[in-house]
Amino acid sequence: MVEMKDMNKYFGELHVLKNIDLTVEPGEVVVIIGASGSGKSTLIRCVNGLEEYESGQLIVDGHPLAPKGGNQKSLNAIRKEVGMVFQQFNLFPHLTVRKNIMLAPQKVKDTSDTVARATAERLLDRVGIGNQADKYPSQLSGGQQQRVAIARALAMEPRLMLFDEPTSALDPEMIGEVLDVMRELAKEGMTMMVVTHEMGFAREVADRVIYIHQGQIVEQGKPEEVFDNPQNERTQAFLSRVL
Ligand code: ATP
Ligand code: MG
Repeated sequence: MVEMKDMNKYFGELHVLKNIDLTVEPGEVVVIIGASGSGKSTLIRCVNGLEEYESGQLIVDGHPLAPKGGNQKSLNAIRKEVGMVFQQFNLFPHLTVRKNIMLAPQKVKDTSDTVARATAERLLDRVGIGNQADKYPSQLSGGQQQRVAIARALAMEPRLMLFDEPTSALDPEMIGEVLDVMRELAKEGMTMMVVTHEMGFAREVADRVIYIHQGQIVEQGKPEEVFDNPQNERTQAFLSRVL
C-alpha cells in the first residue's frame, strides 16, 4: 500500500528524513514512535504529499509520487485515497457536523446530497455520535470532535488512513473513545499509519512498531519485540523514558 525507498527529505540544511525504507502492506497497522522532532509527522505527511521529499522513491497504492520537481500528476489520486487525522481536529466551524462530513465527497467526488447525507449519518453512528449531526463543532467535546474528524476522513472511502497524534490534544478522559474508534477501524482491516504516544494502544493494535530517531528508522518489529526486547540503545533509552 505504501512503499518508501531510500527517501530523503530536508528542511533547508536540516536533513529530516534519512534513507527511509518502509513498506506498509494492505491491512497493516504501523505505529510510528520517536522523540519530539525526530521526523514522525514529516514522514507521514510525505505519504499524502503534504510534504515534498528530495530524493528516493514513494509509491502510494500503486501511484508513484515523485520527489520535489518531479511529476506530481498522481497527487490528486493519492489525496482521494488517503485520509488524514491530525492532533487539531481542523473541522469547519461554520458547518454542522453532518455538513463537515458531506463536504469533501460532494466537492471532490460529485456525490449527491442524498448519498452524502446517508453516508454522513452512517459514519456518525459508526463513531458513536449519531445524535450529534446537527450540532456545530464548538458544541462538541474534544473527543467527539476528533471522532467527527475521523468520520469526515472515512467519508472519502480512503484506502489508507494516516493519524498524527490524534489524541494528544484531548483531555485524558476522552482519549479512550477516540482510540476505540481507531481500534475498530484496524479490526475492520483498514491500512493505518499512526503516530502516537499511546504505547498501550500501540502494543495492542499495531502489527508493527517503528522507532524513528533523528530522521532514521533505527528499529522496527512486532510490538512485543520492540517494547519488551528493544535491540537498539536509542530505542531502549526512549522507551525507558515513556513506558
Ligand atoms: P513531534 O513529536 O514534536 O510532533 P515529530 O517527530 O513529528 O515531532 P517533525 O514535525 O516531523 O517531528 O519535525 C522534524 C524536524 O523537522 C524538527 O527538527 C522540526 O523542527 C523540523 N521541521 C518540521 N517542519 C518544518 C518546517 N515546515 N520547516 C522547517 N523545519 C521543520
Ligand atoms: Mg509531530
